[in-house]
Amino acid sequence: VAKRLEKFKTTIFTQMSILAVKHGAINLGQGFPNFDGPDFVKEAAIQAIKDGKNQYARGYGIPQLNSAIAARFREDTGLVVDPEKEVTVTSGCTEAIAAAMLGLINPGDEVILFAPFYDSYEATLSMAGAKIKGITLRPPDFSIPLDELKAAVTNKTRAILMNTPHNPTGKMFTREELETIASLCTENDVLVFSDEVYDKLAFEMDHISIASLPGMYERTVTMNSLGKTFSLTGWKIGWAIAPPHLTWGVRQAHSYLTFATSTPAQWAAVAALKAPESYFNELKRDYAAKKEILVKGLKEVGFKVFPSSGTYFVTADHTAFGLENDVAFCEYLIEEVGVVAIPTSVFYLNPEEGKNLVRFAFCKDEETLRGAIERMKQKL
Ligand code: GLN
Repeated sequence: VAKRLEKFKTTIFTQMSILAVKHGAINLGQGFPNFDGPDFVKEAAIQAIKDGKNQYARGYGIPQLNSAIAARFREDTGLVVDPEKEVTVTSGCTEAIAAAMLGLINPGDEVILFAPFYDSYEATLSMAGAKIKGITLRPPDFSIPLDELKAAVTNKTRAILMNTPHNPTGKMFTREELETIASLCTENDVLVFSDEVYDKLAFEMDHISIASLPGMYERTVTMNSLGKTFSLTGWKIGWAIAPPHLTWGVRQAHSYLTFATSTPAQWAAVAALKAPESYFNELKRDYAAKKEILVKGLKEVGFKVFPSSGTYFVTADHTAFGLENDVAFCEYLIEEVGVVAIPTSVFYLNPEEGKNLVRFAFCKDEETLRGAIERMKQKL
């Protein structure tokens, strides 16, 4: 394997989902719903296939989808963007992140990352040859240590990579935090790459896109996808929204990474993004109920559960159960209890920082969540 990827192992999500199957364990690990996406979106995909929309799409997205994404973004943030020049459709947000890195970061450029972080960030930054500087968000509230951040941003900083609502903690960046990031970025001419795939799963406060803050749109790449909002994680439809000068970099990388994304799924995405507001409200209501079942259950089992404002994840401290670290705990949980969680140490530059924390996903039907809680009550 190439040096740039030498230190990375099989992704934790792949590892844990394989173990889940092997041990017949209930999978609250990898974040994918165990229920299906909405019929109107599936029907639109079937229709697109039948209508012969099966050859390469335009590289940066079928025009109808670029327009639907721009319309949705306007609805959500008030920002008016040109669908032709400022929207790029990618194969999931994970590709959008990779395309932003590879298209806008030079080897040696410094990029700031908040730990814990979704595992692809570090790997993609490494592929781009970036120099990574980590800022750790700490329990119980995982707020940004603003003084540390201020000290970290210098004229050498090229970009800040952020994610709100935040995987794995469920933390949402507050207006004050976003304003601090914004002023540091405008003062030091820094870009922001903002992964907002959980924006529709915001329970305790409103989601704020950093691009909507004064002076920020021109320096921000906002990334999102269909997967979480429409329970279709396997479709891999994502996008990046950025001003033309940044979109150029994203598109150059995207053109040579995947060139284009699944055509019929793009047609279905157009239908999805036109969903009525009631769809989004219902999604949030359903998830709030699932979250309550999991959080209440984990507390009854004896975990210290940290508050999560958004996403479909919660993190918990496992140390009450006496296992030496998060990996040992998750192994025990799979083999002896029959439940899968994700050890969080893989989401830190320094794994020690995550050794007390595990992540549970609640994007599962209520019976599955109750079943997992039952097993933990009996066997932990
Ligand atoms: N984003 C999902 C999670 O955090 C899974 C992504 C993946 O499997 N690579 O669980």
